[in-house]
Amino acid sequence: MSPANRHAQKDRTTTYAPPAAMLTPSVVRLPTERIKEWRTGCCEVHQGISHRRSAFLHKHSTAVIRKYGTVKVEGLNVSGMSGGNLAKQILDCSWSEWFRQLRYKAEEAGRRLVAVDPKYTSQICSQCRCKHADNRKTQADFACLSCGYQDNADHNAAVNILARNEPLDANVRGVALCVV
Ligand SMILES: [Zn+2]
Repeated sequence: MSPANRHAQKDRTTTYAPPAAMLTPSVVRLPTERIKEWRTGCCEVHQGISHRRSAFLHKHSTAVIRKYGTVKVEGLNVSGMSGGNLAKQILDCSWSEWFRQLRYKAEEAGRRLVAVDPKYTSQICSQCRCKHADNRKTQADFACLSCGYQDNADHNAAVNILARNEPLDANVRGVALCVV
């Protein structure tokens, strides 16, 4: 073999053969084990969050059903809404699960659960019935342009929901706000 050929042979070896360290069992096993540990840790964190969320929903849905004979909820199509900007917040709130728990616990306890049309509940003044988009100043604040009534926006919407009686169709699967 000429010196030039020997040089080429050496280059091929160093360029294409895997580094010796990658072939030792310890180097190959260690990342896999770390990945497994990391996955296990992530699963435990998610399970912990899921259990706490479930416990929270059960505690409060039971309390609501025990305390009140009639529970009104604002019916929303949660699955339709969860594709938008609020997707993460909506799914985090577990609205569908909250609604499911309220429904079966109400049935078991002989309570009434009523889902009403959610249209404009956040824009209508619960005192004078004036409807205007600007009545809701911020996410939290309601101030009627007509009569000047001021309230927490969610409480004002809750009073509107309580005043509504029209039932929704069977496609509603979620709940935004519980009113008692
Ligand atoms: Zn008003």
